[in-house]
Formats: sequence, structure tokens, C-alpha cells
Amino acid sequence: MGKKKDFLRKIVEEDLRSGKYSQVVTRFPPEPNGYPHIGHAKSISLNFGVARDYGGRCNLRMDDTNPETEEARYVEAIEDAVRWLGFDWGERTLYTSDYFQRLYDYAVELIKMGKAYVDSLSEEEIREYRGTVTEPGRRSIYAERSVEENLDLFERMRKGEFAEGEHVLRARIDMAAANMKMRDPLLYRIRHAPHFRTGNAWHIYPMYDFAHCLSDYIEGVTHSFCTLEFENNREIYDWILDTLGVPPPRPHQYEFARLNINYTVLSKRKLIELVKEGYVSGWDDPRMPTIAGYRRRGYTPESILTFCEQIGVAKANSVVDVAQLEACIRDDLNPKVPRVMCVLDPLKVTILNYEGSEEIDASYYPHDVPREGTRKLPFSSEIYIEREDFSEHPPKGYYRLTPDQPVRLKHAYIIRCQEVVKDEEGRVVEIKAIYYPDSRSGSDTSGIKVKSAIQWVDARRARKVEVRLYDRLFGVENPQGPEDLNPDSLRIVKEALIEPAAIEEKPDERFQFERLGYFYTDPVDYRDEAPVFNRIVTLKDSWAKKRQKASPKPAKSEAKPSKSAPKEPRSVEMSPEEQARFERYGKESGLREELASTLARDERLSRFFEAALETYEGATTIANLVANEVARELKREEELTFAPAQIAALARLIDEETISGKIAKEVFEAMSQSGEDPEKIVEERGLRQISDPAEILPVIEKVLEQNPDNLRKYREGNERLFGFFVGQVLKATGGRANPRIVNELVNRELKKS
Ligand code: ATP
Ligand code: MG
Repeated sequence: MGKKKDFLRKIVEEDLRSGKYSQVVTRFPPEPNGYPHIGHAKSISLNFGVARDYGGRCNLRMDDTNPETEEARYVEAIEDAVRWLGFDWGERTLYTSDYFQRLYDYAVELIKMGKAYVDSLSEEEIREYRGTVTEPGRRSIYAERSVEENLDLFERMRKGEFAEGEHVLRARIDMAAANMKMRDPLLYRIRHAPHFRTGNAWHIYPMYDFAHCLSDYIEGVTHSFCTLEFENNREIYDWILDTLGVPPPRPHQYEFARLNINYTVLSKRKLIELVKEGYVSGWDDPRMPTIAGYRRRGYTPESILTFCEQIGVAKANSVVDVAQLEACIRDDLNPKVPRVMCVLDPLKVTILNYEGSEEIDASYYPHDVPREGTRKLPFSSEIYIEREDFSEHPPKGYYRLTPDQPVRLKHAYIIRCQEVVKDEEGRVVEIKAIYYPDSRSGSDTSGIKVKSAIQWVDARRARKVEVRLYDRLFGVENPQGPEDLNPDSLRIVKEALIEPAAIEEKPDERFQFERLGYFYTDPVDYRDEAPVFNRIVTLKDSWAKKRQKASPKPAKSEAKPSKSAPKEPRSVEMSPEEQARFERYGKESGLREELASTLARDERLSRFFEAALETYEGATTIANLVANEVARELKREEELTFAPAQIAALARLIDEETISGKIAKEVFEAMSQSGEDPEKIVEERGLRQISDPAEILPVIEKVLEQNPDNLRKYREGNERLFGFFVGQVLKATGGRANPRIVNELVNRELKKS
């Protein structure tokens, strides 16, 4: 793949190399209680991607242990999503509920070992007895029950003899454990609701902590990837498998950061609310961050997988800019889809000196993409243009049609306005124009200069279509709930006009509508006689500009909006200077579109970026620092306390792995307060990440020396102590050791005997 490997792939590789496992087996384990969202896509891409990359397999397992919330239709939605993303999970979908009997047997085994007991405290008492982070908990008196009594009660719980909440099964671990999760965690609870697969066969259901590790084990999973919130559950995962003494090979859990995206909610609970309360039309509403929603909106599987690859897999939580996902679909569609002309708000233009009609050959694709195909564009004396593309009193910099300024009709002729026809209210209802016969696109000998080309359709042959202009569902960066919905997330244009080929030839399902964005034939409502198009995404990021406008202090260079000017609809277009910068940043510095655009559109940021580049060539890291950290600082402060060269130095520290990205934020904060050089801050505060094995090895040796008992246990086969040693080493270095390297070295040292 030629990309930098993430830490999970490194672990997998090492495990295969060392012979710990002969084949990698992963799983994607959704709970069928809602439609999968883009966060699940990250997990799907990771689990299936690792299996694919290392010749293993990935199971699709429904984690169906809560009968109250799960439904078969969600299973289908999950299967659809995984299939649509292009993955294959073998012969059949697996279910935790298939293992209910085996899980029950394992629980009985734990009871017999004295490692699990039936507790009869109330939910509240259980919470109270658990203690706090600073105080140890107490064990329930019911923990004294004999094995026989426990077995009897557990069996009767299963049969449904007790009410919900009357009893639970708990592991007997340690009520004083520092990790609160280890304070006798619950293994089973009573639920009388019918389960969508097992019906009323069961009255007890296993808890996640019990079911997950054992289901992984039963399926021969080797690497069990879950999100960071489960870090503390790992100890239970290991405890259960170790206590039961399951024969190897056994699975291990690894945590990665979950995906968060701005302007988006990704909690199933909140998504369910949007559906149930009718804020959206359903789970597949094109504004929903569900896979079904993106699919209906017109996103391609490729664009979503590219996004997942771009964001990568890391150990620290962060928030991804939704603009990055939008850039992925633009980049995917840009070279692929045919370009056609559609007019959303038609204004009639009568061409006075044109007679008859003709058909103009026009390519569907611009010449710089590797696709070919042309259509015929009907042309006659009556056409429609976009109302916004004519301005009677144009603001400065208006490049389209005005009473004095001609414009090119894309693929066709140049026209000039002769007369503006208005109704009684003074509204423009028609333009009378002339065309220049020798100005036809491709064979223009007219010598007339125009500043832009606009879309148009032939009045007689254009087709009426419905266009749904979707925008971000939420209007704020960190939405909490319905109160943060964007009121303009959907605007329906009932009677837009489109050139006939788009409907009659239908060269594709996705299109670029010239100057308007990318559009998709709605898979549900589209009819040949009543076409419906969904806007997938605009051509450029219109939010980057909005956000700049919303900032309290506009950059000084920003032109004052003229009061008389009508609302300039295409304010998202870049000025020629911005455009030049944008292209340079992409071509020369290799910045992705989004980042390049953010910098190019802002004078101060672009100046800062370019100055920083003079001292260090790591453009991407610098650009990220400038677009995020520096930009935020500029909003707060008029004067910066640091110079471009200092940001360059900070970028270098990150690129060279002297500090982690997380520490970099701390360094930046310090720098913006004191103005000191980042190197100095790193040294003074001792923030340098230790990556040198020569520095780490002595620490490892010391830790091994100090823990002879654990070392012996590890070498006798208690592999879960691996984590213990890594933890001790990291602790001994004050958290500054590079965890990736510590892992590798500890693994190596432990294997030596
Ligand atoms: P939610 O928090 O949205 O309710 P969940 O974690 O309860 O989601 P599950 O169906 O249990 O949803 O998740 C299935 C898998 O997808 C799990 O392995 C989980 O770690 C992963 N997953 C869920 N949300 C995300 C996310 N935002 N980013 C990455 N992985 C995720
Ligand atoms: Mg879950």
C-alpha cells in the first residue's frame, strides 16, 4: 500500500512474524440496534482491511446481547453497509446469540471455580458498594454463597424464575482494584424481553465484558480491535480468558481512537432520536451520517474508504473536519462523472438575432480527465440562464452577464444583453440579447473578451427536474442535539431545468452540474418521467468561508461588502490570487485540497505559511499547524507572540518524532504564551519523547529485575502480564517513552530467556 503503517498493523505484522498466530482473524462486532454510521465505517475499514492486507479473515458478528433494543432490520442494514463498502465476511453472519449456550457453560465453570457468584443487591447498592476512585469498594454479603447455591440460583435465573434486577451474576475479582471495572464486574443480568433470534429461550443475557472476549475466542479471533473507551475493560477481557484457562491461541484486545467529526453526531442514541422524532426522513435521509444516508446522497464506497484511510488509526481521540470527507467525494467524482448543465432558478433569455435551432456537440468531460463521451446540446433563440448569473447593478468583481458585460454560454456562443424586461413589480423576467455568430466555443474568431462562462439550457428541449439541495445537517461545529440543526440543510427546487441528455441518455447516475456541484439520481424517488437529483456536495467548500465570516475580527484585507450589492451567491469563488495560491499549494507543497483552500483563502494564513516554509520544508505539518493552531490564535489575538520560523521548528519536532502530536499542542500553548522557541520549551519541560532503545532498554531491565514473580508467571504462559510490563516501563519514564518502541522492546526482552 506504500503508506505509513498504523500501530495496529505493526502489531499484527509482528505477531505473524514471531509466529504468535499463523493467520490473522479480526471481527466487526456491531450491535444491531441502529443503522451503522461513518464511525462504523472506520471500524469496518480497519477490521476488514487488516484481514485483507495480511491474508486473514474478518467475521461479521452481531453483538446481540440486549433483546430490548435489537432488531432484524438493523442486521440487514449492517450487512448492506458492509457489502456496499465492498467487503465479504465469508459464508454467513455470526451472532453472539449463537453462543448463548456455550457462554452459559463458561459461566457455570467460573461458578464452580469459585470465581463467580450470584449477587442479590439492588442496582443502587451495587453502585454504592463499588466504592470510588479513591476508596476501595466492599464485597456483597451474597458473595459468601456456596457454589451449590450459586449454581442453583443461576439455573433458576436462566429459567425465568426471578424478576429483572433481582439477581445478577458477578465475577469474583477484586473489590479494591485500582481499575474500577475490575471490582467484581457483572457477567449476566435478567431480561424477560423476547430476543429477535432466540425468542423466549433465555431469561438471562450476558454482559458485553463476558460475551465479547469469549465470542472472540470461540471464533478464533486473534486481534480484537475496539475503541478507546474500552481500555479499562481489557483487564476483564484478559481475566476471563485467563481464569477459564482457555487453550491457546487466544485473542487480545487493542484499542484505537473512535472517529469524531465536526458538524456531525455519531452516537446511535442521538441518531435514533433524529429518526424517531422526524427531524429527518429516515435512517437513509441523505443528510444522515449513516452509511445508508451517504449512499443515498450519492457518496461512493471508494470515497468513504479513502476517507477512512486518510484519517488513519491512532491512539488519541481527535475531531476530524467534515470538510475532509467532503473533499474525498469531490476528489473521487471530479475525474469520473459527466458534466452537464442545469439551471436552478431559470431566467429566460431571448436571442434576437438567432433563427432556427442547432445541436452543439459538447464533451461530457473536460479534456484533462481520461474519460470520453459527448452529447448534443440543443440551442435555439430561447434559452434559460441562472437568475443569479445576470445582474443589472453588478457589484465590483461581478464577472457574469450585465447590461454592459457580455458572457459566454458554456460550450456555445457569447451573448450580450440588449434589453431587460421587468414585470410590474420591477422584477426581471426576461433578457433580450444578441449573440455573436462567430464566437462559438472551439471556433471563436470574434475577438470578444468575456470574464466567465455560465450554464444555460434550451427552452424547448430542457427537462423539468426536482433538485434537492442538501447541506450539513447541523449548523454548529459540535452539535449536541436537535437544537443545533441547520435550518437550511435541505432546500428543494421543484422545477429546475436540465439539458435533455442527462435524462434521455443518462450517461451516469452521478453528475457534475456545471458550477453547482455534484449530484446523484435519487435511488428511491427518481422516475424517468419525474427525475429527482440529490446534491452530494458543492464544488467548493462553502463552509470554510462562512466560518471565516463568523469570526469576530475579519482579516484586514477582506473587502468591505458593499451595501447596495445583492447577496453575492457565488461568494465561494476564489479571487485570482487565491486561486493561484491554491493551485501552488496543491502542486508544489502537496497539500490536500481542503487544507490548501483554507490557507489560500486567507491572506494572513497564507503569508504565515509561506514564511514558515522558508525555514523548513515539511509543508503538510506546517500547514496543519497554521490552519488550526495559528488560525485559532489569530482569531483571539491581533498580534502573534511567535514567528513563522517557530512554527516551522515545531513542525520539525513533530515530523522527527521528537514529540508526539499531543505534546505538540502543549508546546504550542506554551509558545503562544511566552513566545519562546519550541525546542527550548521541549527541553525545559522535558517533553522530548524517548525513542532511543539505548535509553529505554535499561529501564526495561530494571522493571524486569524488580518484578521477578511476574516475570516467572509471564514466562510460564501468563501473557496478559505483557501489558503490566509495558505499563511499568512507561510509568518509569514519566510517560515520555515512545509507546510503540516500548511495546516492541518489552516484547523482545520478555521473549529472551
Ligand atoms: P454508538 O456509540 O454510536 O452507539 P457503538 O459503539 O455502541 O456505537 P456498536 O454497534 O457497538 O456501536 O459498534 C460496532 C463497532 O464499531 C465497535 O467495534 C465499535 O468500536 C465501532 N465503532 C462504533 N462507533 C465508532 C466510531 N465513532 N469510530 C470508530 N469505531 C466505532
Ligand atoms: Mg456498543
